[in-house]
Amino acid sequence: MADLDVSKIAYQLPQPAGMLPDIFISAAMNLDGDERDWVAQSPDVSFKPLVLSVSQGYYVNILRVRSSGVLSRHRHTGPVHAFTLRGTWHYLEHDWVARAGDYAFEPPGETHTLVVPDDCAEMATLFHVTGGYTYVDPYGAALGYEDVFTKLANVRKHYEAIGLGAGYADRFVR
Ligand code: FE
Repeated sequence: MADLDVSKIAYQLPQPAGMLPDIFISAAMNLDGDERDWVAQSPDVSFKPLVLSVSQGYYVNILRVRSSGVLSRHRHTGPVHAFTLRGTWHYLEHDWVARAGDYAFEPPGETHTLVVPDDCAEMATLFHVTGGYTYVDPYGAALGYEDVFTKLANVRKHYEAIGLGAGYADRFVR
């Protein structure tokens, strides 16, 4: 008998006990798809959740901003990876400008002020945010905070409001 070619055989053993289920989101990077995927934070700012990791304290989402000016000033407790998908944005504290295709790393501890320039009608950026961030005034005084749990609360409220039920958010929670 010829040697069995195992290269195309799926893994044959059970996955480990305690393993969390995977997440698959069709057309996740489609910025012009179903509007119900977008959770409004304000009239001009929405996000599309991809992963809400309550077990590890991070989240991955696409942030969409349809207004210009200062969006927020905040201080991070954890690292952030930012992949710009559409439009432009920058931080007042840095001289670079993020455009579609660009990547930025935001180090834990940094405070910065996000600005969308006047000539940008819409920016969309995939943010992987670990830990939380605190909204601050220019001198660091705390004004509020955001983390995976505030995001989840927003997502649950959104799906409840559009009639899919708060539990619809569970597909993003791990
Ligand atoms: Fe940031």
